Amino acid sequence: MAWLPTLIKACYFVAALLFILGLKRMSSPRTARGGIVWAGFGMLLAVLATFFLPDMHNRGLIIAAVLIGVAAAWWSGRRVAMTAMPQMVALYNGMGGGAAAAIGAVELIGYARGLGLLHAVPDTSPLRPEAWAVNGLPPALSPTELALGVLGALIGAVSFSGSLVAFAKLQGWMDKRFVFPGQRTVNLLLLAAAVVAGVLLATSHASAALIVAFFALALLFGLMMTLPIGGADMPVVISLYNAFTGLAVSFEGFVLGNEAMIIAGMVVGAAGTLLTQLMAKAMNRSIGNVLFGSFGAAGGEAQAIEGAQKPVDASDAAVMMAYAERVVIVPGYGLAVAQAQHKVWEFAQLLIKRGVKVKFAIHPVAGRMPGHMNVLLAEAGVPYDLIADMDDINPEFPATDVALVIGANDVVNPLAKTDPASPIYGMPILDVSAAKHVIVIKRGKGTGFAGIENALFYADNTRMLYGDGQAAVGELVASLKEIDA
Ligand code: NDP
Repeated sequence: MAWLPTLIKACYFVAALLFILGLKRMSSPRTARGGIVWAGFGMLLAVLATFFLPDMHNRGLIIAAVLIGVAAAWWSGRRVAMTAMPQMVALYNGMGGGAAAAIGAVELIGYARGLGLLHAVPDTSPLRPEAWAVNGLPPALSPTELALGVLGALIGAVSFSGSLVAFAKLQGWMDKRFVFPGQRTVNLLLLAAAVVAGVLLATSHASAALIVAFFALALLFGLMMTLPIGGADMPVVISLYNAFTGLAVSFEGFVLGNEAMIIAGMVVGAAGTLLTQLMAKAMNRSIGNVLFGSFGAAGGEAQAIEGAQKPVDASDAAVMMAYAERVVIVPGYGLAVAQAQHKVWEFAQLLIKRGVKVKFAIHPVAGRMPGHMNVLLAEAGVPYDLIADMDDINPEFPATDVALVIGANDVVNPLAKTDPASPIYGMPILDVSAAKHVIVIKRGKGTGFAGIENALFYADNTRMLYGDGQAAVGELVASLKEIDA
């Protein structure tokens, strides 16, 4: 079957096309769902084609692993709440990095065996069956393959342990920021040691102890690097690890000579890098600063907030908006928790019918994942021309009669501009306090992701409408209908 390898390559090519076209479709909310399906079919094709590689070993084991993975992913994917998606993304991302690191480990062990440096390891690898089949010995890696294999393993291992820490933080299992004196120096030393071990491996100094030390250092560095990152920096670090995983997979694909892995990895790496840059820009941070500085590291006393929160009831709030000329609605994480997007759009439509000019303002890191609010509003059917980005809407707040904040907290906290001791100091915010009136819907006095007080809630022009997001907007809808009746 001389044509089989050509057919497999052709399948990889089609899979790569599906990845790229799928990604292209993900650039618009209208076609995004289809894009995911296309890319999914690409992955299915690539996986199926791989089973037909000549002399593939251990098919039974691989099928068992695939079945376990599919079952776990299917179950968790169906169960996960929209608000828990970021943790899930972090976890899956970590799995990708871990898989790339594992490939690197198998290749390095095989390589060391080939040099006669290791004996007590299993002598078949499913990964490069064609080379193993020749003489039963592990394949020789070219210097480039070796270097890329080591680099991929390093990046993959860092992404694996780092993503697990990110998962634990997002899940609320861990303190958001964990800092100790001299942390930066310790981290730099760990990185330097991992790189030295990697260079030694890549220059044919493989030994069992060195391989173990290399992976231990890389995993430890990923862990330590992510511990101090918290609060508002999380979105940047999640997308950075996403990019890392893509790169690691691509490098290991090069080592295995697998085109589908190279292209899929590069697509993820490039998209992840762009997203990281966008998120960092949105947070007014450089990537180096996220990784090696920490938000609010200046320390000092946080500014005391004066005054009291002033409640309002739904009917008064509805009257304020019914007779307003311009209303800007600011959704945040609480809107996602309450699943209030459909009610909010119903409310906005009632206002629009009365002639009120309504817009939705989206902060780039509102919610718990990039594009979170865009997805929710698109699901409710809010037209795109009513949705404005932070930079476009901020100059409009002074001419806005009512800013209606629903479950947003950190992204509207003026302390980010005024309090250098605040953990979110320097993060750009939606300037809602510049509106004539602000109405904030939230359940009580709960803090946001960064865990800090918000001066907006105590401002003279702010009124608090306490309640669950969906229930409170439901009351606004009912009150507005009464006014219209
Ligand atoms: P926040 O997390 O700052 O605040 C959410 C607010 O919603 C809380 O104060 C809470 O107050 C309220 N809330 C919770 N549940 C409900 C409910 N059912 N009904 C009404 N209100 C509710 O949200 P933001 O969107 O303002 O900010 C996002 C934060 O998450 C930023 O710090 C960002 O850096 C971070 N982050 C963002 C990621 C991303 O990619 N977008 C990823 C990871 C982190 P109360 O308890 O009183 O109701």
